[in-house]
Amino acid sequence: MRAEIIAVGTELLLGQTVNTNATYLSQGLAELGIDVYFQTVVGDNAGRIRQAIELARTRADVVLFTGGLGPTQDDLTKDALADYLNLSLTEHGPSMKKIEEMAAKRGIPLIESNRRQANMIEGCTPLENEAGLAVGNALTVDGTHYVLLPGPPREMRPMFDGPAKAWLRTVSGEDRRLYSRTLKFAGIGESALEHQLIGLIDGQSDPTIAPYAKEGEVAIRLSTKALSEREAAGRLDETEAQIRSLVGEHLYAAEDIPLEEAVIRLLRSEGLKLASAESVTGGLLTQLITNIPGSSGEFLGGFVTYTNHMKHRLLGIPMAQLEGEGAPGAISESTAALMAERTLEITGGDYGVALTGVAGPAESEGKPVGLVYIGLAVRGGETEVYTAQLNGNRGMIRLRAAKSALYRLWLALKDRK
Ligand code: ATP
Repeated sequence: MRAEIIAVGTELLLGQTVNTNATYLSQGLAELGIDVYFQTVVGDNAGRIRQAIELARTRADVVLFTGGLGPTQDDLTKDALADYLNLSLTEHGPSMKKIEEMAAKRGIPLIESNRRQANMIEGCTPLENEAGLAVGNALTVDGTHYVLLPGPPREMRPMFDGPAKAWLRTVSGEDRRLYSRTLKFAGIGESALEHQLIGLIDGQSDPTIAPYAKEGEVAIRLSTKALSEREAAGRLDETEAQIRSLVGEHLYAAEDIPLEEAVIRLLRSEGLKLASAESVTGGLLTQLITNIPGSSGEFLGGFVTYTNHMKHRLLGIPMAQLEGEGAPGAISESTAALMAERTLEITGGDYGVALTGVAGPAESEGKPVGLVYIGLAVRGGETEVYTAQLNGNRGMIRLRAAKSALYRLWLALKDRK
């Protein structure tokens, strides 16, 4: 079955409201195994709602509406659909009773517009609104299924998840649902990952393999339609194993968690403590790590030493290392190593990670934008320094630098196991 979502509301067209209902419905329909081919937005205008219905009918088996079920004159969805289908509106008794009770409880007179919310298109299945007054509608006419849901997300979501989904399952006769698994990767870009997996991606349609990038990380979503979780797991496991055999060294989780969480979990399982010193990232690494609830068990703290003076004062890096004739400079391999080592000594942790580099937009110390040094000091071991040349604007370089440091930590911790 193919679906189209029609979100009704002039506020959506004006950009005053984000169309989160469409996102929510698309995700929910995918889980039901119903493919969404189009998302439409139309204003509170009867003529244009009619045009949207006419078009949707030609290209979808299921048309879902959100918005325009309320009491006011600009809430037109039910009227427009009833008019288009040549059906009349009748009153849904239980909804009317609920509206009357609400009015009595508040001691306000019932006005005609309130009654509109109990209207339903003749012959439809009413969809109960547990969080509001406007009743939803579901009906099938000439082989097209129509579902009318309210606009406010707190009303729309429970109505969709409850009675609307149950109705859609019945009419679609589809017993399979969509199961997805997210694989997360680090230390590799989206295009490089796709390139390495291109043979697999091109030759395979079930499960589907969809790479995507977000917030400095790369992920692959595997999806398959199945009758049970067990059946889906079998197919997803097989494809995951094929992917692992090709790019396993970059795969840090088979669930949608950020890299920092994978690092914290490894530290926790080994009983290890981490501390950081940041220059180029200005505390971003520390922020990512401390976003993870419970990270205080593994993360001791971080230094943000942005100027040379602070690198000297807080970390004790000699000024002669940082500036002056013949000095390696703040943006150098040896400074990254010293920052990591001093962090380890001061905090008494097991790992000290340090970042220094150039976020741009201009070069610094004669070093190019995007050049980043990652220092990794480990208690009782050799300090390593990794050099990265990162792309992007200032924000992306900082995020990628923090994620690169996390990747180096993840590799070191994984090898230790
Ligand atoms: P009401 O009884 O509040 O009038 P309604 O079903 O008529 O409900 P609308 O009037 O279209 O819905 O929208 C009410 C509010 O719901 C909007 O102001 C907006 O905040 C929210 N809303 C509507 N449509 C969407 C959408 N597609 N995505 C997210 N929020 C929405």
